[in-house]
Amino acid sequence: MDRPLALHPVDTQLSRDRLQRPLRELRLSVIDRCNFRCTYCMPLGSMKGKGSFLPLEKLLTDHEIINLVKAFVGLGVHKLRITGGEPLIRPGLPALLEQLAEIPGLNDIALTTNGVMLDRLADDLAKAGLGRLTVSLDTLDPDILGTISGGKADLQEVLTGIAAAERAGFERIKINTVVQKGVNDHTVLDLLAHFRGSGHPVRLIEFMDVGNSNHWNPADVVPNAEWVERINARWPIESLVSTNPAETARRYRYLDGAGEIGLISSISQPFCGGCTRARITADGILYTCLFSNRGTNLMPLIRHSDGPGQVQQKIHDVWAARTDRYSEERGDGRHDESKVEMYRMGG
Ligand code: SAM
Ligand code: SF4
Ligand code: SF4
Repeated sequence: MDRPLALHPVDTQLSRDRLQRPLRELRLSVIDRCNFRCTYCMPLGSMKGKGSFLPLEKLLTDHEIINLVKAFVGLGVHKLRITGGEPLIRPGLPALLEQLAEIPGLNDIALTTNGVMLDRLADDLAKAGLGRLTVSLDTLDPDILGTISGGKADLQEVLTGIAAAERAGFERIKINTVVQKGVNDHTVLDLLAHFRGSGHPVRLIEFMDVGNSNHWNPADVVPNAEWVERINARWPIESLVSTNPAETARRYRYLDGAGEIGLISSISQPFCGGCTRARITADGILYTCLFSNRGTNLMPLIRHSDGPGQVQQKIHDVWAARTDRYSEERGDGRHDESKVEMYRMGG
């Protein structure tokens, strides 16, 4: 049953984890389903038929999401990223965004999408108050894109989606590119050439060992330092100084003024020290690290507690106990338990 919001005041100074990192960002998965089957996320065959995805009645309702986000904002969160699965598949997403955009204190709402539904939805998303958009696109080679997406992605549909988002008024659309050695690395410079001068920064993401089904192998990772050299040799770049310790990407700008790129180097240059992100799955499980194998199910409190203040206190307690720094500890043998898949956790 929907409940009125009556949050307990919580001293936001106390919403710091055991490594003194404040809780500032929330990544919210609104659905775990997807119309792609990317090899690094949800490979074909890894979904074992019925029961693989959450039944729709298990998803947080819009009202529950609004109350939950308000609870996070009360603890210090000011940035929200909507993700999934493919978030645009969630029925009625623009109406949810409209309500999220009205939450006082939430000053940055972004969304990550594979782009194919933007042609239909970009206008509605812009009108609903979505601030920023990230589109995932790994290559401009249609065959390679088809292979990476499990035969589901059509390059023209993604490009049409990006064009629709531009027409709807989105600027600086971030382009997320996961680079895998021997798969799409030889097409990266073409992709950069395409987006140079467009105003949309491409972010090269090192292939990560999220979940267990993508058969991650360190040999498949291209360390981002290699890109700095290769890109600089083609189009001279310079590093941009960041004032935000929570920024995941190291930013560079083309010296000829053709824009920016970002390098997200979770494998070769981990950034756990500045990690201020919590994650919520579409069915209300709280995770404090992308590589967690255990989360805290908030749903019983969300649906059955005496009031939302209890949910807020629980989030606060979980965050206060947080010690996660998986990427800095990767390979030390401490993390051999099964991890949650990216499409469940929300990237
Ligand atoms: N479906 C949407 C999309 O693909 O943009 C949103 C969810 S997806 C899980 C979020 C981001 O995670 C995407 O940019 C995707 O490329 C990235 N991602 C997924 N699996 C990854 C992996 N193993 N390593 C690095 N990035 C990954
Ligand atoms: Fe779907 Fe995004 Fe995962 Fe690809 S990365 S399978 S588009 S959720
Ligand atoms: Fe944050 Fe975990 Fe990634 Fe480190 S490994 S940056 S703690 S999500």
